Amino acid sequence: MVFKKRVYNFAAGPSMLPQYVLEEVRDEMLNFGGSGVSVMEMSHRSKIYQRIIDDAETDLRELLGIPPAYKVLFLQGGATLQFSMVPINLMRASRKADYVLTGSWSVKAAAEAEKFGDIRVAASSKDSNFSYIPKIGRDDFRPDAAYAHITVNNTIYGSRYNYVPDTGGAPLVCDWSSGILSECLDIGKFGLIYAGAQKNIAPAGLTIVIMREDLIGFAPKDAPVYLDYKIHADNGSMYNTPPAFTIYVAGKVFKYLKANGGVAAQELRNREKAGKLYDYIDGSSLYSAPVAKEDRSLMNVVFVTGNDALDKEFVAGAREEGLLELNGHRSVGGMRASVYNAMPPEGVDALIDFMERFERRQ
Ligand SMILES: *Cc1c(COP(=O)(O)O)cnc(C)c1O
Repeated sequence: MVFKKRVYNFAAGPSMLPQYVLEEVRDEMLNFGGSGVSVMEMSHRSKIYQRIIDDAETDLRELLGIPPAYKVLFLQGGATLQFSMVPINLMRASRKADYVLTGSWSVKAAAEAEKFGDIRVAASSKDSNFSYIPKIGRDDFRPDAAYAHITVNNTIYGSRYNYVPDTGGAPLVCDWSSGILSECLDIGKFGLIYAGAQKNIAPAGLTIVIMREDLIGFAPKDAPVYLDYKIHADNGSMYNTPPAFTIYVAGKVFKYLKANGGVAAQELRNREKAGKLYDYIDGSSLYSAPVAKEDRSLMNVVFVTGNDALDKEFVAGAREEGLLELNGHRSVGGMRASVYNAMPPEGVDALIDFMERFERRQ
């Protein structure tokens, strides 16, 4: 299939970027801001690049309302490297941490942390194929846990916390890879937030870490230098070469979001988009959504027909119409429409229109 124009891409990540941002990047590709070079070719130690990374941080802080006592780090290695960096840096003397399992990514995070200490599963929804978010509170966490870990939005199963758990004294660590900037969260309730950029922010290659300053500086002496948050915090995310081009694109996405009403306005748009899809699914006799209503993701809308062959036909038929990547994750099957910030409402309308026609044909 050859497409003559841009299509609606429902991929879970890497995923759609705002067309406006892509056009700006294109226009600046050969000569950024009169520098005579592309951002890809520019020294990260130059004044002009310093401005790019500083602006990106300032705009992200403003968008998320990040309190002054938090550091923002621009790292590499994906969310996957954070599965290791978090325990290495935060476990400290107790070597205990509590994890809530709500999907494949939290299971992977906990498995990695087990290499470094005593991990307890505080709660899990594995018994029902991760179709809901457990209701947890301070009694579910050990008082001497060095931190508690959750995955706010579960990209594969399509669920999302609609509350911030009270963990007692343990700093709350969260993987916000597929939800960052999609809704308002009180950052002050978290000890550390990490997110890979390729879902809701930028191309792959950048991981954002937002962490309370008082949690920095506790990596063991023999930790590899790149894995110590303090090194990155002390060097303005430039101890080594940062993912310079991806940070530049991220900065453009931040500016675009600011110009369009910030995160609060984006959350409204996201609620409308996902709400429309879920309403249609709930009212249909062909499709169903497996996740408990109150825990449904605003970003990854998972649905099935209950017939694997029909699911495959749906995905292939949608593709023919320029509605791409609607297959569920290879581990769960069915369908998944990832409707991140950059998915325009018209994309959701086009999908619902296809779903209606497909249903009528059955
Ligand atoms: C995509 C994703 C990951 C993995 O990210 P990488 O950048 O590929 O390491 C981890 N957690 C969540 C919630 C994700 O959506």
